[in-house]
Amino acid sequence: MNTLGCQMSPPSTSSSSPLDTCSSPPPRTLLPWRPPSSCRGGGPTWDPPEEGFQGLGVILTLLHMLAIPRDEGAQVTLLSPTQLKEKFPWINTEGVAVASYGLEDEGWFDPWTLLNAFRRKATSLGVQSCSGEVRAFVTSANYMTPPAPSSARIKYVHVYMPDSLEYQPVACAIVVNAAGAWAGKLLEAEGLPRALCRPPLPIQPRKRYVFTWHCPNGPGLSCPFLVDTSGAYFRRDGFGGNYLGGMSPPEEEEPDPSDLSVDHDYFQEQVWPRLARRVPAFESLRVRGSWAGYYDYNTFDQNGVLGPHPRLENLFSAAGFSGHGLQHAPAAGRAVAELVVKGRYETLDLRRLGWDRLVDGEPLQEHGVV
Ligand SMILES: Cc1cc2nc3c(=O)[nH]c(=O)nc-3n(C[C@H](O)[C@H](O)[C@H](O)COP(=O)(O)OP(=O)(O)OC[C@H]3O[C@@H](n4cnc5c(N)ncnc54)[C@H](O)[C@@H]3O)c2cc1C
Repeated sequence: MNTLGCQMSPPSTSSSSPLDTCSSPPPRTLLPWRPPSSCRGGGPTWDPPEEGFQGLGVILTLLHMLAIPRDEGAQVTLLSPTQLKEKFPWINTEGVAVASYGLEDEGWFDPWTLLNAFRRKATSLGVQSCSGEVRAFVTSANYMTPPAPSSARIKYVHVYMPDSLEYQPVACAIVVNAAGAWAGKLLEAEGLPRALCRPPLPIQPRKRYVFTWHCPNGPGLSCPFLVDTSGAYFRRDGFGGNYLGGMSPPEEEEPDPSDLSVDHDYFQEQVWPRLARRVPAFESLRVRGSWAGYYDYNTFDQNGVLGPHPRLENLFSAAGFSGHGLQHAPAAGRAVAELVVKGRYETLDLRRLGWDRLVDGEPLQEHGVV
């Protein structure tokens, strides 16, 4: 895993993908999880490089109580505290009722490598890409006289090029809002009729820190990606006693997202004590680095919002994965592509992740966000 490389030269501060820490099965397994074989170069339709994926059978989730959905195909085994201690003698099992240990199709990979592998594959299939910032829309409602329409189509998007005050109007048949943490803000852009942008897309940027540390006496090579009962998480970072991890703050202590500065006291006061309680060897560790990125946080239910907008007819969304977007990306991309090209879900039925739940006010709550 080369996440540290991402830290040193993040390609963009507005993109979350290059900055995350791992990928694992979605906690509630709403989306199928089959990347490892594909990541090993076996997939006929996409071929991210083999070296991008590391580790199988490595996600270990410690729980206060038994609440593991095993009926969705995730290959996990449940360990009692005694079994847990036998397998990982360096863990303090205090407060653990059961541990969920992944047996296959789990691990981590460098998100920047994966993203570029997808890009290369898309390019090889004829996709043409250009980059710029969408700041405004022109819709069919712009051409209508009152009364206000109940729906509209997006006719053009205004794309601003970097370092230019000029924009390019781009005519579009289909628009996919995959603007990550800024997907909600994008639907507040100039030109979109306010009355048609209801309900709002409740996605916000939330700042999250990742810390790296050195601990020569730590868990070592057998260290899985461990999610603690406290919400803190960590995993091995390469070899030589290096680790990385972090923790989401409680809602009322969300850090100011206006910049990506790192609060080092947060590690000292919040994360480290939790790590050291779970792994006593972490009582003596040396912090080596840190970085911050934005979770694409869906404040409604912490799940992605996929599919057609209720009132903007040719707008689809694929955003709001709330810190799990890397692992959701292959399935979400395929599903939205099916909607766009075929007009319906074919291989995956992800209607549960659609806009209806926002319209109806019925959250599909994700409890597994770390
Ligand atoms: C610290 C950290 C750890 C994480 N750990 C994990 C993990 O372990 N596992 C996991 O699965 N996920 C993890 N994630 C989450 C994951 O990175 C995101 O969910 C995922 O990157 C979202 O992908 P995306 O393509 O939706 O958005 P992004 O990757 O953020 O891409 C959105 C793109 O839209 C662009 N954009 C925004 N606004 C506009 C506009 N107006 N016009 C044009 N372009 C625009 C942005 O520049 C960006 O390139 C983590 C995230 C962070 C920050």
